[in-house]
Amino acid sequence: MKPKANRLLFPLVLLALPLRAGELPAAESAAKAIRAESAYATVARLASPEYGGRLTGTEGFGKAARWIAGEARRAGLKPPAEFPGYLQPFPVTLGRVTAASLEILPSEGKEDGRKLEMWKDFMPILTSSGGEVRGEVVFAGFGITAPDLGRDDYAGLDVKGKVVMVLRGQPQDGRDWSLHNDSHARYRNAQAHGAAACLLADQAVASPNGEPLEGTLTGEISTALADEILRGKGLSVETLRKALEAGGTVSFPTGRSVRFHVEAAPPRPVEGFNVLAVRPGADRALRGECVVLSAHLDHCGDWPALLPGADDNASGSASLLEMARAAGAMKVAPARTLVFAWFGGEEMGLLGSRHLAEHFPPSLGRPVAVLNLDMVGAGNGVYVAGGRNFPEIFSALTEARDRWEPAFVLQAGLSQGEARADHGPFQKAGIPAVSLFGSGGHHVGYHTPEDTPFFITPRTMEASARVALGAALLLADRKT
Ligand SMILES: [Zn+2]
Repeated sequence: MKPKANRLLFPLVLLALPLRAGELPAAESAAKAIRAESAYATVARLASPEYGGRLTGTEGFGKAARWIAGEARRAGLKPPAEFPGYLQPFPVTLGRVTAASLEILPSEGKEDGRKLEMWKDFMPILTSSGGEVRGEVVFAGFGITAPDLGRDDYAGLDVKGKVVMVLRGQPQDGRDWSLHNDSHARYRNAQAHGAAACLLADQAVASPNGEPLEGTLTGEISTALADEILRGKGLSVETLRKALEAGGTVSFPTGRSVRFHVEAAPPRPVEGFNVLAVRPGADRALRGECVVLSAHLDHCGDWPALLPGADDNASGSASLLEMARAAGAMKVAPARTLVFAWFGGEEMGLLGSRHLAEHFPPSLGRPVAVLNLDMVGAGNGVYVAGGRNFPEIFSALTEARDRWEPAFVLQAGLSQGEARADHGPFQKAGIPAVSLFGSGGHHVGYHTPEDTPFFITPRTMEASARVALGAALLLADRKT
C-alpha cells in the first residue's frame, strides 16, 4: 500500500510549499519567465537604423525611449507619479561633428607626413568643437591635474595653442583617481591649460563623451599612431605607461606636428530622457524603499556610420525589459518596490544616471540597492563592479545564480565610484550599487559599426537578467 500513501502525500507537499517558502515561488517563476529569444528580438530592434544609434538628444533616442515606455506600460508597470509618461527629462548640450581629418606633418628634412585614416588612426570626439589646429604635439602623461592627490601632469609644461597628447589610465597606487581618470575630465583639463586640441591615445573609436568645449578640438587616436608620434624621441606608449602607472610624471614636446580639422554643428540645448517604470511593493512597512534595476539605453549615434550599439548597451536594455515584463507578470508583488530605469546620456558621461541619483522621484521611495547591467551580450558570466564594496548585493546575486543559473560565472570587483559606469553616481550618493558586465567572452566592435546583433550571445543576456532579477527580488523581500 505504499504507492497509494505516496500518491496521497504528494499533493499535500505541493500545497505546503508556498506556505513554507513564502515569496520564493513568485521569484522562481519570474526568473524563469525570462527568455533569450525575446531579449534578442529587442536587441535587433534597438540596434536597427530606425533608432539611429540612439544618441541622447536625437530623434532616434527619443523614439527608443518612447518604445521602451510603451513596452513597460504593456507589461503592467506603472510610471512614477511625477512622470506619467514614464520619461524623466534632463538637459543635454548636443554638439555634432559632421566632418574631420587628421594629418601627421613631415618631420624636418623627411617625407614622413601622411593623411590619417578614421577608425584606424583617429576619431574625433563626436561632440568636439569645430575648427582647425596646426601645431606640435606635446605629450602630457595621463593629462591629470589633481592637487588633492599631489599630481600635475602639466607641471612646467607650456601647451598654449598646442596639440596635447595624453594616455588613458591612472597611477596604480590604490588611491581613488576616478574623478580624473575620465575622458572628459582630461579634455577639460587640456582646455584649462590653453591647449588648442587634445588627443587621447588608446583606441580610435567613436565616443560622444562630454559637452562641447568651446575652442578645443578633441579626438581619440590609436596606440600605433601615438607610437609613431613618439618614435623620434625613442619612446613608446608602453614604456611611458609603465613610468606613469608607477606614479611618475613624464611630459615633453614630441617634435612631431599635426593638422587637425573638425567641422561641427554649433552646440544646442536638447532634452535627454531616463525611462522609469515601477512595480509597487506590497508590504506597508517596506514599500517606501525600492530596489533599482537599470541599464543605459543610449549609444553613440549614426556618424560617420550607424553605430548600432548592440552589445553596448541594447543588450543590457533588452535584458532589463525582460526583467520588467517578468516583474509585471508576477502574481505576488515583492515587499519592496522595484524600479526599472533605462538611462540616457551614459555615453556622454553618465548624464542620465547622475540626474536620477540627484533627482530621485520621491514617489518611488528610498533606493536601497542599484543593480545596473552594461554590455551583457557576450560571455559566460558577469564581472560585478562594486561586488566587493557591497557584499550583501553580491551574496544575493550568488544566491540567485545558485538557484537559477548554476553554470553562470560571477566575479566580484572593487569599485571606486567608477566614473565609467552608471552605478557610480549612486555609489557616490551613498547608495549600495553595482554594475554587471558580461565577462569571459569577446565584446566585438566596441564603439564601432561592428557592434551588431550578429555578435550577440542571447544566452548571456538571459542568464544576466535571470540572476539580476532574482537577486533584486531576494533583496526586495529581505527583512532588513
Ligand atoms: Zn559605450
